[in-house]
Amino acid sequence: MKTTSRVCVVGGGFAGVQAVRALRRRAPLARVTLIDRNPYATMIPALPDVLSGRVEQQSIVRPFADIFAADIAAGAVELVTDAVSSVEPLQCTVRGAAAEYAYDYLVLAAGSEPEYYGFQPEEGEQFHTVNTYAGARALREAFVKHWRHHPGGQVLVVGGGYTGLEVAACLALASRRHKAAPRITVVEAADGIVPFLTDRERERIEAYLVSNGIEVRLGTRLQQFSRGTARLSDGTVLENALVCWAAGMRYSGPEFSTPVGAGVETARDGRIITGPTLQLPGHPEVYVAGDAAALQSDGNVVRRAVNFAYYSGRCAGSNVAAAINGRPAASFRPVDLGWVIPLGEMSVGRVLGGLRVGGRIGLRMHYTMSGFRHFGGSNALEFYRTALRLSREPDPLLSQAETAP
Ligand SMILES: Cc1cc2nc3c(=O)[nH]c(=O)nc-3n(C[C@H](O)[C@H](O)[C@H](O)COP(=O)(O)OP(=O)(O)OC[C@H]3O[C@@H](n4cnc5c(N)ncnc54)[C@H](O)[C@@H]3O)c2cc1C
Repeated sequence: MKTTSRVCVVGGGFAGVQAVRALRRRAPLARVTLIDRNPYATMIPALPDVLSGRVEQQSIVRPFADIFAADIAAGAVELVTDAVSSVEPLQCTVRGAAAEYAYDYLVLAAGSEPEYYGFQPEEGEQFHTVNTYAGARALREAFVKHWRHHPGGQVLVVGGGYTGLEVAACLALASRRHKAAPRITVVEAADGIVPFLTDRERERIEAYLVSNGIEVRLGTRLQQFSRGTARLSDGTVLENALVCWAAGMRYSGPEFSTPVGAGVETARDGRIITGPTLQLPGHPEVYVAGDAAALQSDGNVVRRAVNFAYYSGRCAGSNVAAAINGRPAASFRPVDLGWVIPLGEMSVGRVLGGLRVGGRIGLRMHYTMSGFRHFGGSNALEFYRTALRLSREPDPLLSQAETAP
């Protein structure tokens, strides 16, 4: 066994954390460097709860130094806070803003980022997003500020996928006790929300959103966002608009240097196509996991989901350990446990091969699974408590006194 293999794991999300854990179990002598642009891991499915205030905010992020305290103390895991911009597979290095890092094996697990399809707000304007903790906090603060300056103003959510709907529902939940809350509109370019839903599921969601004052405009795009004014493709003009972009995600990881980069195959959204053992064709020392990989089941690329990220990260880490130990790699076979879309006080979901769940049962499942997949025991407890106490009043975004004229 090679005792001092250097393994770089880029990205400490669900996939990256599991890869490190699998490596520590199966190749305890390997030296693992975890590089993430943040010093903490983020419970991404709970980010809309930064807006609703339903989950204690300190439970949504957790420092890597806590998660891997014992491994760091043992000298087996090193943490680096850096944004990796490129991979040089011929030199076996990754390049960050601060330094270059050498590896014998690389696990690429850098997740995904919003896809803007080339669209940009005009100078001085900003699209908010909720795929990072900093982004969700910034949206919460901007929403409160917007509300103070423009009582009854507009919030536009671009994208009627599950993220956009969750954002809209969480903002409405946290602000509905106030009469002058901004009006929330969701625009979706397609002719229906969340493509994988049945018509009945869509109708239930739309009825819930409407009853919470959220307007959904289908077949409508944002055409221009300038000087606080959003212009929609159906001619509607929204003055004093705060815009949240939730219209799609794409690969966000480092680029591969050429000529290797030219040979890296990607799916339409930039996710990297790997072999069944998650290795990069032509570069078996490079593994890709989580949202960064175009994970396949029965020839189809699976949706981005925690479940697939978690187990593909574990598989990548185990396969690196197998390579270090001179054993064969195992294929990754995604198992779809289903999904739940939590929308404030209701939910829609299908789990375990098609079993329909909804209402508070679905919400409880969502928070329980979030706890199960979390990065540490104390945070997991907070999610289990949230699952039990759904009746807890959300933390209002503004107190009544603050909104009084
Ligand atoms: C708002 C929202 C809600 C969601 N809700 C659900 C849900 O309810 N259920 C579900 O199954 N899925 C949900 N998803 C999808 C799910 O969160 C992802 O599929 C999952 O997080 C992917 O895990 P990952 O480890 O691949 O990437 P991530 O969890 O995104 O982690 C990637 C890590 O890489 C780091 N990183 C990124 N780029 C670099 C770089 N260049 N250099 C260094 N570090 C980098 C990031 O800081 C991050 O820590 C949701 C997604 C969003 C955005």
